[in-house]
Amino acid sequence: MIIVFKLGTNEETLGKVKELVEKQGIEVSVTKGAQQTIFGLIGDTSTINIGQLEMNDAVEKVMKIQEPFKKANRAFHPADSVINIDGQKIGGGHFTIIAGPCAIESEEQFMTIAKAVKEGGANFLRGGAFKPRTSPYSFQGLGKKGIEIMEMAKKETGLPIITEMMSAKQVEKFGDRVDVIQIGARNMQNFDLLKEVGKSKTPVLLKRGLCATYEEFLMAAEYIMAGGNENVVFCERGIRTFESWTRNTLDVSAVPVIRRKSHLPIVIDPSHAGGINWLVEPLSRAAAAIGADGITVEVHNNPEEAMSDGQQSLLPETFAKMVDKINVLRKVMSEIDG
Ligand code: PEP
Ligand code: MN
Repeated sequence: MIIVFKLGTNEETLGKVKELVEKQGIEVSVTKGAQQTIFGLIGDTSTINIGQLEMNDAVEKVMKIQEPFKKANRAFHPADSVINIDGQKIGGGHFTIIAGPCAIESEEQFMTIAKAVKEGGANFLRGGAFKPRTSPYSFQGLGKKGIEIMEMAKKETGLPIITEMMSAKQVEKFGDRVDVIQIGARNMQNFDLLKEVGKSKTPVLLKRGLCATYEEFLMAAEYIMAGGNENVVFCERGIRTFESWTRNTLDVSAVPVIRRKSHLPIVIDPSHAGGINWLVEPLSRAAAAIGADGITVEVHNNPEEAMSDGQQSLLPETFAKMVDKINVLRKVMSEIDG
C-alpha cells in the first residue's frame, strides 16, 4: 500500500502518520521528493482502513497494491483448482453440466427430471429444497423432505447433488447430506452463513450477488476459504442492470476476469441470468465459448405448472439437444485452445 502526501506536508504531520501506521505492526519506507513525500507500507495491510487514512488533510491519496483476497488469489496458486466430487470434476478443463428443477416439488417430479437430465448429459443434479422466494406467499420448498428426495435421486442416478442452504442452521443440519452446498445470490454477503460453510467439508457453489462487484465476489469466496473450506466454485448468474427485458444481465466478462484473478472454477447460470427459456441456449453457448468451467441449468418436465421459475426452465428434450450442441462447441474450443 502506498500513501501519497500533499505537496509541502510538514515533518510533524508525516511523523504522526508514520507512528499511526507503525502501531499496526507495519513497516514504513519513506521516499522524499523535492516537495512531496510518499510512504510505502510493508507488511500485511489488509486490516488498514484506507478511508480513515484519507480523512487526514495531509493525505493526497492511498493506493492498494496487494489484493485483499489471498487464498482465492491466483498469484499464490497459479494452477487451476480442480474440485473432485464423487469422481465428477469441476475446473481444470472439464465442462461441468449441472441440471435440475428450480425447486423439488415431489418425489415423482424430481425423480423424473433427475433421470431425464442424466440421460441428457448432466454431471450433477440440482434442486431447491429451501427456496429464497421474493414473496413470503410463494412456495418455500419442501425442506427436509426435499433433501430426502435428493438423496433418493442420487442413489437412483449416481449423480452428485447440489442444493441451496440459506441459514447456518440448515448447513449444520443438512450440510453433509449433499455433495455441494449452494450459496444463493441473495446470501453472497451473508457473512455468518459464509463462515458456517467455511467450517463445513462440503464443497460450495457460490453465486454472485445481484449487485456484487468482482472484488466482493472474490472476498465472499475468501470468507469461505479462510474458514478452512477451499472447495469453492464461483457461479456468475447475471447482475442487476437498467435492462428489464431480461431477468438479469449475464456478465460474461466475469469468466475471464475471475479466472485471471483466481484459481477457483467458475460456472455460468444461464437460467437465472436470462430468465426466459429461449435465452438459455445462447447464453450457455456463450459460457462454453468464453471458457467457463460449466453451466447450471434449470430443467422441468412440465414448465407451465412448475412451482417456481417455469418460464426459464427447459424441457428435458430441449436440454439434451442443447448439451449435444455444447459438446460440439467444446470440441472446437479445445482445438482453438490446443
Ligand atoms: C437458484 O439457483 O435456484 C436460485 C435461487 O438462484 P440465485 O440465488 O442465483 O437467484
Ligand atoms: Mn430458480
